[in-house]
Amino acid sequence: MRPERMEVVGEFLALKWTDGRETVVDLERLRRHCQCAHCAGEPDVTGAIRRPAAPPVYNATSFEVLSLEMVGQYAVAIGWGDGHATGIYSWEMLRELSE
Ligand SMILES: [Zn+2]
Repeated sequence: MRPERMEVVGEFLALKWTDGRETVVDLERLRRHCQCAHCAGEPDVTGAIRRPAAPPVYNATSFEVLSLEMVGQYAVAIGWGDGHATGIYSWEMLRELSE
């Protein structure tokens, strides 16, 4: 299952899925769930998640989407208004956040 279409509508990302469902994800929710190493930390050599040194700081442009770029067949990379662009969202994650 994957999105057939996705577009930003106001403060939401609207998705139409190959199974016919249409869902929306709040952009702020999406940004706050960013799984990149900078926002969520990354596993160290023992597999334990090392939290980032400082929690992410958001501003007025942090929840605006500037670009959506497909990553292979499984995810989309989102470029945010404040310049943050290292987050990748898998279809699974998008579906989960929009349920
Ligand atoms: Zn991030």
